[in-house]
This record gives sequence, C-alpha cells and structure tokens, in this order.
Amino acid sequence: MKNNTVDAIIERALSGNDISFAEGVELLKQTEPQVIAKIRAAADALRQKQVGETVTYVINRNINFTNICEQHCSFCAFRRDENQEGAYWLDWRQILEKTTDAVQRKATEICMQGGLNPKAKINGKCLPYYLKLVETIKQEFPQLHLHAFSPQEIEFIARSDGLKYAEVIKALRDAGVGSIPGTAAEILDDKVRQILCPEKIDTATWLEIVSTAHKLGLHTTSTMLSGHIETPEQQIGHLEKLRSLQKTAINQEYPARITEFILLPFVGQQAPKPLRRRVGRDQPVLSDALLLTAVARIYLGKWIPNHQPSWVKLGLAGATEALNWGCNDIGGTLMEEHITTMAGAIGGTAMEVETLQAAIASLGRPYQQRDTLYQPVSPKQDQASNSSVRPLCCQN
Ligand code: SF4
Repeated sequence: MKNNTVDAIIERALSGNDISFAEGVELLKQTEPQVIAKIRAAADALRQKQVGETVTYVINRNINFTNICEQHCSFCAFRRDENQEGAYWLDWRQILEKTTDAVQRKATEICMQGGLNPKAKINGKCLPYYLKLVETIKQEFPQLHLHAFSPQEIEFIARSDGLKYAEVIKALRDAGVGSIPGTAAEILDDKVRQILCPEKIDTATWLEIVSTAHKLGLHTTSTMLSGHIETPEQQIGHLEKLRSLQKTAINQEYPARITEFILLPFVGQQAPKPLRRRVGRDQPVLSDALLLTAVARIYLGKWIPNHQPSWVKLGLAGATEALNWGCNDIGGTLMEEHITTMAGAIGGTAMEVETLQAAIASLGRPYQQRDTLYQPVSPKQDQASNSSVRPLCCQN
C-alpha cells in the first residue's frame, strides 16, 4: 500500500506537478531500501530532465571577516565574545590579501559573511562599515562577484542603524554586492528557531528580507540546516516556504530569485553541549541527508532547479554521492572555511579545482565551471561533453 502511494507521488512529480505537503512528508518517512531507491531514482531523473547531466562548480573564496558576535545560537562553535580567546576581526589589509590570493587562484566569487559584531561601526553606524567592506574589495577587483551578508546580517545592520531592510539592501547592492547568501534560514519554523537560535530573526523576517532582495534585483541562494531537532513535517514546511517564495518571485516577475538550494546537515562535534546532548551525535547521518536531498529535488521541482550538497559537512565522498540523489552542483573551492570546521566538520576547509573535477568525473558526468549565477565560465576544451549550464530557472 505504502509502495503504491510512493509510486503515485513519484509519477506526479515526474509529470512536472508540484507534490503536496503531505506527499513530501510521506516520502521522507520511507525506510524500506527498495522504496528509498525509487525516490533516489526519481530525484535523479528529475535532475536530468531539469538541468541535464553536467555538474557545475564555482571557484570562490570564503572570507569570514569576524567571529565576534552578539548572538548565541545553540549550534554555533564559530562565535566569540570580543575578548575571548580565538576572537578575530580582519582589517582591510588582511581582507585585500585574501581577495588578491583568491583572484590569483582564478576565483570569480568572494563569499563574505561574519558574526554580528557590535563594534563594527563607523561614526556610530553599522552600514558604513559594511559598505566599506564591499568597496574595499570592489575598488580593487571590480570583476569579482560579491556574494555577501546573510538575511541575519541585513537585519543586524537595519536594527543597529534604524533603517528599513530595503534601504540596507539597496545600499549594499549599489555599493557592489552581487547576491545574498540564503543562510541563517536554519529551519524556517519558529518552534525550532526558539530552541536553536532564539536571538535570530524569525521565519517571517527571513522570508521578508529574501523577498525584498528579489524585488530589488539581488539574487539569493536558499539553505536548510537539517538533522538536529526538527521533524519531517518541519523539513517539508521549510521546503514549502522556499518553493512558495520562489513562486512569488517568478509569478510577480521580480528581477531576481533563488539561484539554488543547499542542504547543510548539522555538524555538532564542537557545538555547545546542551544541543549536542539533545541531538545525540556529532556528524551527519549520510543516509538521512541523501534521502532529504532527493526529497528536496522532488519537492522544489521545476521552481528551484539547482541543488548543491555541502562537501564541508558531508565530506567529498558524501557530496559526490549526493550528485546521484538529485544534485547538479558540487559547490565551491572555498579556499578557507571556518564556520563548519570549527563545529567539527571533517570535510576539510578547501578544495582544489582538480579535486572537484575528479569527483564529478568519477561518476562519468561532465563538469563545468560556473559563476555565482550559474552562467558558464571558460568552458574547458578538454571536456568530453559540450553541454552547457542552464540558467537559474529553467522553466522560464
Ligand atoms: S550562527 Fe551566526 S548569528 Fe548565530 S552565534 Fe554564530 S555567528 Fe552569531
């Protein structure tokens, strides 16, 4: 009976229909290996239909400019108080050194996020500090795409300076921010957020800031922090909110939208003890992450065609396996990663381009460098395939 139900859900998804909340939960609750194999195959088939065989990657560098943070998210091993051991705040010279190094290594993107540092003010206001961060990089390297500042950071600036979200986003956009990371989403369910990150923005605020960015022409990514205290219903509720947000951006013809979905399985090894005890394990359960990866592809359907696993969280082998479960992108080189590594992730802090290419090639699939917005970059002449990267939303 269950098997028949899953078959019917899969058939509807493969025909291009949206599956319902209840159907998404039904898929996530499956435990029989044969049924899970069908869900995997459906996600893989949808991936093939929506974006083809090519697996993309981006050459990028993370710059986490400070780990000093006024908040205390229960999963965060990155944050420090100002005078705590290990606290840091990069100066302009250090930021430019890291950017220069990234450019020399052919990066097309700088991904920049940091703690909510109450001292990050110029003349008593936060926005000028953030604008100077952007301008410092863009003046030297105007060609770089700056993927920067989570919805939480945008709220922090707006709150500190008494500005509207739209005013902050416009100012950052005009200074040179090219897109916004859809981080700080964790699970978009306020009951979970109350436990996980009670000081963070609530669900409605996250959705409002991301939608405002879309209206103002800034693309965003979307993420989900999975595998901690959330239920399957809350996971599907999260996917439903992302799907609905993207539908609004597309149906209202906003100039920007969600570029990709990234699943971030929870790593708790160095997380503060209470949450670690409650979750009861330190590293993600790969099988859970893979099933959720497949269900995310099926649930988000044609609305969000680009899916990326996290090699930082799953390790490269796990991320490579996720390419068989609906993913079409293996992410970025990063060059340095602090936030998850400080939480105890085993995936490493950087990847060479050749390593990412080899991982993709091990599946017999072609690879392609892309930019932040999924446009192809310098296609390699030695690639067997001449397939191209599809733009953000292939249904348009
Ligand atoms: S997750 Fe971000 S906002 Fe929360 S404590 Fe860590 S650095 Fe601060």
